Amino acid sequence: MLMRPDLRTRQRDFLLEISRAITAQLDLGEVLRRVLRASVAMLAGRVGIVALGDDQDGKYLVRAYAGIGPEVVPQLNRKLQELMNPAEGEGFSREFLNAKLREMADAIDSQLGQSIAMPLVFAQNPLGLLIVFRSYQTAITPEDLNTLQSFADQAAIAVNNAQLYGHINQERQRLEAIVDNSGDGVFILNPDLTFQQANIAFERMTGWKTDEVIGLAKNEVIVWDRLDNPDLENALDSGWPAQSRDGGGARTLYVEGDLVRRDGMTTSLGITYAPLLKEDGRLESIIANVRDITNFRKAQEMQSVFISTIHHELRTPIAIIKGYASTLGREDVEWDSDVIRDNMAIIEDEADRLTDLVEDLLTASKIQASRELRLNVTDTDLQQLAARSVERLEVQSKHSFNFSFPPNFPVIQGDEARLRQVFDNLLTNAIKYSPPETTITVGGQFTASSVTIFVRDQGAGIARDQIDKIFDRFYRIDDRLTRRAHGTGLGLYLVKAIVEAHGGEISLKSQVGSGSTFYFTIPRE
Ligand code: ADP
Repeated sequence: MLMRPDLRTRQRDFLLEISRAITAQLDLGEVLRRVLRASVAMLAGRVGIVALGDDQDGKYLVRAYAGIGPEVVPQLNRKLQELMNPAEGEGFSREFLNAKLREMADAIDSQLGQSIAMPLVFAQNPLGLLIVFRSYQTAITPEDLNTLQSFADQAAIAVNNAQLYGHINQERQRLEAIVDNSGDGVFILNPDLTFQQANIAFERMTGWKTDEVIGLAKNEVIVWDRLDNPDLENALDSGWPAQSRDGGGARTLYVEGDLVRRDGMTTSLGITYAPLLKEDGRLESIIANVRDITNFRKAQEMQSVFISTIHHELRTPIAIIKGYASTLGREDVEWDSDVIRDNMAIIEDEADRLTDLVEDLLTASKIQASRELRLNVTDTDLQQLAARSVERLEVQSKHSFNFSFPPNFPVIQGDEARLRQVFDNLLTNAIKYSPPETTITVGGQFTASSVTIFVRDQGAGIARDQIDKIFDRFYRIDDRLTRRAHGTGLGLYLVKAIVEAHGGEISLKSQVGSGSTFYFTIPRE
């Protein structure tokens, strides 16, 4: 043992070294090793260990050691568990503690004569244990304890720092993961409106890579083709966020419009800006949440198209029915029976048109609600369905109809009523969108596993860029031909849904000016 004045100086030197290690933010392992080295040297010990409670389950494990090899550590860890979890009745008595420390000393080397243990405590939280083993047994002086206490306190500070740092780091990573994986685009602006950060969803929405935007000015990246409300700069000029437009309450700012993506395409976005303020109220940064509102816009547009189409499509037959009915009902005229029959036929046709329309709307809303169609599957003869559909529609059209089915065309498993809707829709379109006196051909082919039906017309054809769109709900091509014909834009949407519900596929070959052929293929089983 050292003499008193030497001891003081050495203790001070060690403490200085340790606190330097802590402030230099050396890693925890290194700080603990230095604490151990100092403790062992000061107490003239041979072996020292620092055990720390695990963050997750509180289990004590050796985290630093001096004077032993790694092979002893597992055994010491086991002893530590026993020490920390006394069996019932044993409790943390001095005897129990001493007995366990003795067992630990024996596990290391039976020659070890004495052990001194000191808890690491920070703000009344037990964090671990510092234990020094000596070769010989001698009285443990208050100085010994004092010395060890001062090192244990340093170790506790270092452990607490490391835990805080770990927590902060974890929290930062958690926040980063949330931002990165958010389905919404997120970007953060500095007070001078340059980019600090952006996430992957933002990259997807705007085409700007997350690492490219850092440091760029907001207006280099956020370029509006059309803006529905004042932009961030205008808001800042008028005092946002200190004076927010809604008079205090919510400090966020919402901006919406069509943004020019990096690739030049436009996309509809809504951006919510939220200020992050420093303590003195100045802007620290602005956090922006970006939402793709293309679908919302589309839905809004669709709704208004839907309302005007339905309005038009419902009004026309109702007006015709009302007109003919009131004409027939005039009391001042005697109608002869031919006129009555003709007019009644027209009323009936128009009522049928209304029924079909209502039926289409119902089917469409069913598909929309459940995303699938229920089928009532029976043996279905598509060739016969085609013939019946043609028979029904032929009377109202001036087209000539052709059939092209190979012999022994197979019967398939399908929903007859729905497949009738498919033929009706495809044939009605062929009639509506091709000039009278031209030919419409319905035919089929089959293989061992599937049947394919086609409906061919000699009409105006469909431009390539319209082919994908005509199967959308309420979509009608904006041209003279379509405007002249009645329709809701639901027909092909339903056709596609019905064919797909049968496990089939629909396709189209078309040449502008020379006609279109719609194909659908359905598996035979
Ligand atoms: P609609 O009720 O308007 O006929 P559909 O969904 O059946 O609705 O068709 C969508 C659009 O596709 C039509 O408005 C029309 O512009 C176009 N179209 C459909 N079939 C044909 C065809 N055989 N030839 C040319 N254009 C067609």
